[in-house]
Amino acid sequence: MSDLANIIQQVKVEYYQVPLSEVLTDAKHGDHTHFELIVCRVICADGQEGVGYTYTGGKGGRAIYSLLVDEYKPMIIGKSAADIEGIWDEMEWHLHYVGRGGLVSFAMSAVDIALWDIRCKRENLPLWKVAGGANNTTACYAGGIDLNFSQEKLLKNIQGYLDRGFNAVKIKVGKDNYQEDVERVAAVRELIGQDKVFMVDANYSLSVEQAITFGKAIEQYDITWFEEPTIPDDYLGFAQIADNINIPLAMGENLHTLHEFGYAIAQAKLSYLQPDASNIGGITGFLRVAKVAKENNLPLCSHGMHELHVSLLASQPHAGYLEVHSFPIDEYTKHPLQLDENGRAIAPNVAGTGVVFDDALLGQYLIKQS
Ligand SMILES: [Mg+2]
Repeated sequence: MSDLANIIQQVKVEYYQVPLSEVLTDAKHGDHTHFELIVCRVICADGQEGVGYTYTGGKGGRAIYSLLVDEYKPMIIGKSAADIEGIWDEMEWHLHYVGRGGLVSFAMSAVDIALWDIRCKRENLPLWKVAGGANNTTACYAGGIDLNFSQEKLLKNIQGYLDRGFNAVKIKVGKDNYQEDVERVAAVRELIGQDKVFMVDANYSLSVEQAITFGKAIEQYDITWFEEPTIPDDYLGFAQIADNINIPLAMGENLHTLHEFGYAIAQAKLSYLQPDASNIGGITGFLRVAKVAKENNLPLCSHGMHELHVSLLASQPHAGYLEVHSFPIDEYTKHPLQLDENGRAIAPNVAGTGVVFDDALLGQYLIKQS
């Protein structure tokens, strides 16, 4: 491979709005009717193409598109696609003053994932091997966005997960009256039985005091983790909750820099980390979080984009649970997520990240491209 072949010649950016089949609700973001998908295609001088992407719950995607088209595209054209770390650092410092974390981390992720796709294709290896190679499957759970579902519909939805082969499930909590949440938790535990793994997620809707009250009320239902009980910035509040309830805490989807993960690990008394490669600076950022998770003996989990994270979690020896998210991005790809007979998710065995968008399915939702 000559250096010239790796020179980035073209960058194409696409912005999609993909409707959900029904409205999905959580305690902090309200109703989700669609998700946004921002795809970044990086093309090298020899024609090799890498595909990266990020997504949102329906807001902010146009700003990410603009960051990619107006800032990163002109910055990376002419650079070597093989210099993933160098480009990552330059992307971070290029916009650090105006956008440390936040939207910039989403835009960086789309570029970084495209560069990793090129790296894996050049090596003719699947991502799970290039990223670490520990395994090609990972434990996983079905993550419902179901706060607006009646209890009857909630249970029907959970039964659907069990029927699909899942051994672990998560529900949303954060009803106005927490007793209603307690009843829902009790009903789900009764439905799934004692041997299934069960988590809850408040999407940071509770105060520290409310989280402690609710946590104590559901301790008896064997909850594997309580996710984002309170705002992600309140690391000491998390620690206070951890000190007062007998349920492990988890977060990560709202930590968008490595520094935020560092502070959270040091102060928040977390038991599980849940980075998201779509907003922590792509695969490079995700693997850096994986490293600090290992150093701190914390299981590495994930949030969202399971079609990509399946390979990253499988690759790591300290993997916890892959979230199989309710935004079905994988249904618009050539390799929708598969579970094995033990309810473990299988990483695709194709050269590249394994995420190959199916234009025949996705094309109808394209809003703009550059
Ligand atoms: Mg969550």
